[in-house]
Parts: sequence; C-alpha cells; structure tokens
Amino acid sequence: MNLPTRNTPAPGPKLVIANWKMHGTHASNAQLIDTLLPGLQALAGVQVAICPPMPYLAQLAGLLGHTGISLGAQNISERTQGAFTGEVSGQMLADLGCGYALVGHSERRSLYGETDAQVAMKFEAALRAGLTPVLCLGETIHQRRAGNTNAVIGSQLRAVLEQVGMAQLARGVIAYEPVWAIGTGETASPAQAQAVHAHIRQLLAAQDAEAAARMRLLYGGSVKADNAAQLFAQQDIDGGLIGGASLDAEAFGAICRAARKPHLTGLAARSHRTAHN
Ligand code: PEP
Repeated sequence: MNLPTRNTPAPGPKLVIANWKMHGTHASNAQLIDTLLPGLQALAGVQVAICPPMPYLAQLAGLLGHTGISLGAQNISERTQGAFTGEVSGQMLADLGCGYALVGHSERRSLYGETDAQVAMKFEAALRAGLTPVLCLGETIHQRRAGNTNAVIGSQLRAVLEQVGMAQLARGVIAYEPVWAIGTGETASPAQAQAVHAHIRQLLAAQDAEAAARMRLLYGGSVKADNAAQLFAQQDIDGGLIGGASLDAEAFGAICRAARKPHLTGLAARSHRTAHN
C-alpha cells in the first residue's frame, strides 16, 4: 500500500508526554522526579513533558523549574472563567506554568461524556491561553473490527478543524491513541500505528501540506520500554503519550531514550522517499 507521508523534513526532536492520570502524592511525585531527572536532563534531542494530576501542577512546576522538562495538564475547561464549579481554565493552567493541555483523552470522552464539539472548544480554549493542545484521537475495538478506524479518526479530527481551522489546528499536537490499547497492555503494532498516523497526516495535508508535514503526531497506548523504539522508528510517529509506564522512572527514562535514537526510518528514510517520489 502506498501510504502518503511527509514530503518535507521532519520537525524537531521527538516529544514524549507523561500522563500520570489520577496517581501520586506529594511524596511519590517528588521521588519519581528525583529518580527521573538526572537521566532526562542529560538527554539531548528529545522534548519531555509531564502531566500530573491538577492538584500537583504547582508542585511539579517547582520540581521541574529550569530543567527543560515541560509541564502539562490532563484536562482543561472550555470556558474562560466564571461560575463553573470544579473547572480549571486555560489561563489558570498557564499561570501555573503549563505549556501543554491534553484534550479529548479517551477516558474523558468515554467516562465523562466529552463530545467532539466540547473537545473542539477545549482545543480552542488551550490556544487562547497560549497553551499547546494535545488532541487525542482514537477508535474503540468495535470500531476497528468494523473497519471504521479511519472514519472515526476523521470525524474526531474534523470537529476540531471546523471549530478552529487548519492554521490554528497546526499550533497543536495530535496523539493517536487507539482506545483498545490504552492501559490494556495491548499495543498497536508499529505498522498499525503508522497506517493511522499516515492517514491523519493525509487528512491534514489536504488542508495544508507544509503544516501537515510539520505537525507532531504522537502515538499512545501501552507504550513500554521494549516497544517504544520500534514505534518511534515509524515515519509518521513523532513521539509518544505515555500513561502507565510514565509512573515508573526506569521505564519512562528508557522510553525517552528510545525517542532520541536516530532511526533509519526517520529523517533518512523520509529524504530517501522524497527523492524517489
Ligand atoms: C494514556 O493514558 O494516554 C495512555 C496511553 O495510557 P497507557 O500508556 O497506560 O496505555
């Protein structure tokens, strides 16, 4: 199958984002960062961000300080401010030192009923606050088995494109996270992941080919130390969104190191393919 891929050089370093979900305490967070930092700080050529639970954003902002590791939020309100009990605005997240906000994580979509329209508003709210939204897209196992993966991804993506337009969408990051691979220990094969990433890039390229080539597309879903390198070696995979394994300093450190390795299928392969297209 001749899947369309980038035809311009890869963007900068790979991006690896830790999603701690609802785990941690002050003490365990400090310990995890303390163990992680020496290895991560020595890592050139990879961007790392950590998304702790909201109550620990200030703690993590302090711990990460000037380490070069970014801070992100796992969620964001679509509202700017006002009587929205329990919500956290983009401005508050920026004020706490966040650079990223996850939007549309499948757990938010399936457990908290977030709709495509709401996710699109959250994406826009993150941009308004100067944050980089990380838009999560993914199909369930039933949708995949029914052959609907591309259609599902397409409609999740279109909801945001229609809300903000391609120029604004391109200011964000996209994370393809097959729902059946999140927290299940089941990972998409590198070929399965690459095929969906290429599809996403093709949809983006139909809007703006240059911006599409530059956009960072992350893979998420049971990425572990032993499968990260193969996934990150795929031509259209620009990093990862890591859940469970990001709570283990050794595993997360290894995943970040795997993102740094120069891959034959990375830039070299892209230039090769471009030269032969
Ligand atoms: C996630 O929560 O975004 C995720 C990818 O989780 P896990 O790595 O545990 O599958």
